[in-house]
Amino acid sequence: MLKKFALVLATGVIVAAPSYWYLTARNGTPAGTFDLDLAELRRLANERPGARPTEVRAERIATLQFPERAILAGASWAMRDLDVYAFQARYADGTFGLIDTGMDEAVAKAQGATFFDARAFERVTAAMEPARFIVVTHEHFDHMGGVVVHPKVKSLNWLVTPQQLQVPGNLAPVKLGDLPGTRLVYEKATAIAPGVVVWRAAGHTVGHQVVFVQRADGQELLFLGDVAWYRENYRQVRERATLVTLILGEDRGAVLAQLAAVKALSEAHPQLHVVPGHDPDVYDEAFAGGWLTRGF
Ligand SMILES: [Zn+2]
Repeated sequence: MLKKFALVLATGVIVAAPSYWYLTARNGTPAGTFDLDLAELRRLANERPGARPTEVRAERIATLQFPERAILAGASWAMRDLDVYAFQARYADGTFGLIDTGMDEAVAKAQGATFFDARAFERVTAAMEPARFIVVTHEHFDHMGGVVVHPKVKSLNWLVTPQQLQVPGNLAPVKLGDLPGTRLVYEKATAIAPGVVVWRAAGHTVGHQVVFVQRADGQELLFLGDVAWYRENYRQVRERATLVTLILGEDRGAVLAQLAAVKALSEAHPQLHVVPGHDPDVYDEAFAGGWLTRGF
């Protein structure tokens, strides 16, 4: 009996150990190469007439928590914060555009948020109506959830792409309601305002895009959305745990190719401010360095 038990246990370990490794530690290989061209981003940033933004502000709306191993395959099981932000590119004439919109308190709490700043979300919500543009990096609740529940969503200057509406389930637990009829349709990249460019980056979701901002003073920010949750994702070209990829329905090879491109870009241009989706250390550095300003 004991022998049989040992055999079952051994079989279990033999089967389970590779699955455990696969689901939580395996990285994988990039699928091809991802073209992210700074010269083209800069050209597009100057395509629209008018002055470029003078500053970029950021509101921390909420904090989610995941084990580090979910964020970075093979890392520790220690819990880590994932801060959820909305951004505001401000122009000298007082106008502004928004990048990402967070989510409301009910959704944040339902997703296990350990922190929610109701006042910050109110400020983001209030900024949506006067905004000259709103874009979201992708169709997940913590980026698109805020704009979708806005009472005047139909009349906002929200530039949503068809791809961001392609898989309504991506937004769960937020439901896609009636949305505006205008769509932002583009092939690879496009300018949406002076100094602001979106660049398609399908992988984390089908509607994912990164957002480039070139300020009037020449400082440049690249909002990665969730191509990378943390800076270490692109520094190590290391994806989330495969388990997370499976739950989210990510194209892992595409994301790894994007991480490799961002790593190369950041190493070739160390002055470029790369902003991963949820890395608290990067936000701390951004506020300390003055290239993001805290609060709308
Ligand atoms: Zn996110």
